[in-house]
Amino acid sequence: MKCPFCHYEGLKVTDSRDAPEMNAIRRRRECLHCLKRFTTFETVELTVQVHKRDGTYEDFQQQKLINGLAAACRHTKISHDGVIALASQITDELMQSQNREVSTTQLGEMVMKHLQALDPIAYIRFACVYRRFKDLNELEEAIKTIQSKDETHATEVLHLSRSKKEA
Ligand SMILES: [Zn+2]
Repeated sequence: MKCPFCHYEGLKVTDSRDAPEMNAIRRRRECLHCLKRFTTFETVELTVQVHKRDGTYEDFQQQKLINGLAAACRHTKISHDGVIALASQITDELMQSQNREVSTTQLGEMVMKHLQALDPIAYIRFACVYRRFKDLNELEEAIKTIQSKDETHATEVLHLSRSKKEA
């Protein structure tokens, strides 16, 4: 690490303390050349690799998850705050698991498990993108899984997705 003021490489740590609110260690450092002081934070870096359908990997990005959820939840009872909360809940689940790798399919299943409990329309929209239904039968199968929970609502969804197909 270099001094941010003069870029000299000789630094000494003058103080080191826990910063529990940021789950970090805060250190005061002093430049041995210009004698200016500054603070650094040491935090945990956790990454999860997403194994994509085309065989390539990329770092898990919460923003991508938020974008996908926001698209599925638009005009449903799930607000934007709800989308953010759900994204952070799913991110926590990912980070807490022992696995440092997740496939696009597994990630999609995690999201669908949550959406299924929250809102059938958001669930079906998300499932359409993630499962890439081959035909209407597959879509109907997915709808049947939520039908037992909320008979009226699911029929509404089926009607919606049919008219979307026809349009
Ligand atoms: Zn300096």
